[in-house]
Amino acid sequence: MNDEELTPLFEELKKVLEGKVDDETLMGEIRKYVNSYGIDPSRAKRAIIKKYDAGASAGFVTADAISKKIADLTGSEMNIDVTAKAIYVDKKEISVRGNKKTIISGILGDETGSCPFTIWEGDSADLVKGDTYIFKNAYTKTWNNRVQINLGTRGRVEKTDASVNVPDRTITAESREMKIGEIKDGVGNVTVTGRILSVEERHITAKGEPKTVYSGLIADDTGKIQYSAWNDFSLKEGETICAKNAYIRSWKGIPQLNLGDRCEVSRVDDNFGQIEEAPTQKTIADIVRIGGALDVSVSGTVVDIRAGSGLIKRCPECKRSILNDECTTHGKVEPVFDLRMKLIVDDGTGALSTIVNCADTEKLTGITLENAEQLAKARGDMDSVSREMAQMMIMKRITVRGNVMSDEYGPMMIVHDAEIDTVDVTAEAEKLYKELEGAL
Ligand SMILES: [Zn+2]
Repeated sequence: MNDEELTPLFEELKKVLEGKVDDETLMGEIRKYVNSYGIDPSRAKRAIIKKYDAGASAGFVTADAISKKIADLTGSEMNIDVTAKAIYVDKKEISVRGNKKTIISGILGDETGSCPFTIWEGDSADLVKGDTYIFKNAYTKTWNNRVQINLGTRGRVEKTDASVNVPDRTITAESREMKIGEIKDGVGNVTVTGRILSVEERHITAKGEPKTVYSGLIADDTGKIQYSAWNDFSLKEGETICAKNAYIRSWKGIPQLNLGDRCEVSRVDDNFGQIEEAPTQKTIADIVRIGGALDVSVSGTVVDIRAGSGLIKRCPECKRSILNDECTTHGKVEPVFDLRMKLIVDDGTGALSTIVNCADTEKLTGITLENAEQLAKARGDMDSVSREMAQMMIMKRITVRGNVMSDEYGPMMIVHDAEIDTVDVTAEAEKLYKELEGAL
């Protein structure tokens, strides 16, 4: 369809999305769904609305900043607003490549906790201890097991009259009791009760000394988490422990439980029931709040399939995906073919990027690697495979299982298992509609 034919759809979507997406991007999306994917306009309309409307509330698909309290920060936010009181302020001049630059650092506090901050462009800002400020378009990082608020070139700080009460206790880090499913980066010291699912022993050398590290999975009725211990607590598979004064550290957004020197372990009884097998069912909003997750399952609607999906080429040496038969490390190579899909899944609470491997791509689409190679050869076009897959997958309800990691692009699931949900709500609704029309 040409742009003129697409205009009514554009006008309609523009009204529904109310400035959530600019005109040029919106028209580009409509052309992609209708012309490249070959999806009928009404289905394209639903997919685009879902992609931009629901995603906005999770602060992921669109770039709008969302406001958060300090205790809710995960250390992987890319664009947030925080209103907090300056508890401590330090302004200093540093030298960057021969240029003088002012940075302001210190500690911010609100009703929920405290957190270090750094303003990297501090020349024009002036913070006074005890005053309250809005940090706009800030980002967060984790450093030494604590979340930090950063303000870069995109951010700004404004004084506000909003009243923020900072309780005294926020400055000290005390151990708090938490369910495993609620643990996220930056919570610091925790007390956790869980059942040991596995124990592994590794012998390593640290600072020239031989050491043994114990690690594995521990779970309660809300989730699973990886633990590690430097001391031998004689942990055994199947027993339930209460770990007091453990601490949380994250790797790529996935929280890990560390049983350190201050940790006390005691054996307790539990009433968790059967917890070993099933992955934890989570909403995308929950995962975004925590920053990452181990072995979770998410059910939602596929709203987009990203570039780099379908039939791809990999370097035979390092297995990285390559373009033009050239690997950045290994030079000119004879590529091997592979299948994968990068699906955006939306469950109504937010949107999640997923990477689906060859076996699950074959399972979801029914297109095998061999079929895909034949199809690409017959049409003389590798991208025809991803268009075919877009046709099949968009607006389908699927359940994906895997680990979710976060980086600067947001949360991403490496899928270990995927299934098309048997109840296809859209198809059901369309069928019902046809029946109703037939009855009139
Ligand atoms: Zn390579």
